[in-house]
Amino acid sequence: MRRNTLLAQAGSRWDERTGSVTMPVYQTATFRHPALGQSTGFDYSRSGNPTRQALEDVLAALDGGARGFAFSSGLAAVDCLLHLFEPGARLLVTEDLYGGTFRLLEKIHRGRGIDSTYVDTSQLAAVEAAWDDRVRGVFVESPTNPLLKVADLSAIAALARSRGALMIVDNTFLTPVLQRPLELGADVTVYSASKYLAGHNDVVAGALVVKRSDLADRVYFHQNGVGAVLGPHDSWLVLRGLKTLALRLARQQENARAVAEFLAGHPRVTRVHFPGLASHPGRETLARQAEGFGAMVSFEVDDPGLIPQVLSRVKIFLFAESLGGVESLVTFPAVQTHADIDAPTRERLGIHDRLLRLSLGVEDVADLTEDLGQALA
Ligand SMILES: *Cc1c(COP(=O)(O)O)cnc(C)c1O
Repeated sequence: MRRNTLLAQAGSRWDERTGSVTMPVYQTATFRHPALGQSTGFDYSRSGNPTRQALEDVLAALDGGARGFAFSSGLAAVDCLLHLFEPGARLLVTEDLYGGTFRLLEKIHRGRGIDSTYVDTSQLAAVEAAWDDRVRGVFVESPTNPLLKVADLSAIAALARSRGALMIVDNTFLTPVLQRPLELGADVTVYSASKYLAGHNDVVAGALVVKRSDLADRVYFHQNGVGAVLGPHDSWLVLRGLKTLALRLARQQENARAVAEFLAGHPRVTRVHFPGLASHPGRETLARQAEGFGAMVSFEVDDPGLIPQVLSRVKIFLFAESLGGVESLVTFPAVQTHADIDAPTRERLGIHDRLLRLSLGVEDVADLTEDLGQALA
């Protein structure tokens, strides 16, 4: 099946007994055994649940991995992965990545002996320069959050493979519809399914897709051992969301491009970050490795005093954290998503007090540009 068909029929052929066209919600903790030493394949819902498995199977197929795993949040998925590294391991990590991942690495895993070094992964030379014998993994976000910098995934994957390190890609922003890192040589993809995969700002969920089955076995052992699994009802919500993922993204990308172009021509806007603009340094790389530029836009205004005005005046954009849903959201990264990064580092990265991030939804684009126009006036 091709990707659009896989999405439309996510979970649709699972229930042989009743023929249910949507995946049933197996809201059960445990499963009756046919006899001693026999199992239906399901024993207890931490170890496996049919609704969760239907979701995990679709995710694995979409990304081309051996196995998918659904977690209670994107950060629970990242945490599981980080536990595969032994104390003393060093990770090279994209410097302007999701603030929660930074907090997890710095405030939780550093204390366990996992040493993360932050690099500008849009520069291959910077990744090579930061490498030493202790590097066991590379954790790349591309495009990054919130500056939408683009990393050359095949090149970094080749480097990681030649040096025996694991290549992990947080693919939350583009999803397997637009970018498939495992096909580009990565070992694991990470998702906050709370974002585009579920797509309706109504559920917190996470996922990993692992390319090789030996690594998948280790992930499964850890997931089952710790238990940060996604519940059956939330799994169903993500499955339901997946059915329209390609359609939503198509509209969201159109809206993002139109809004980026509108902002680029606005007198109070000094810079627009959107990989689809001709001026974006990562445009060519992204055009080569992905099938679209995504639906996230960030922009800088000429005066920090304008930020509170925009946030209070918007009538269509919702001032809220998160992204990827059908409703357009505006976020102030320096005080919301990236507050755990210290101020000098934020300033150096460009996550400053004049930067706003937009997640474009599926609304009428004229309402979106008019809304930004009146908020910036
Ligand atoms: C939101 C997000 C996460 C964390 O996911 P949760 O589901 O909120 O735990 C990780 N990476 C990126 C890129 C995100 O946007």
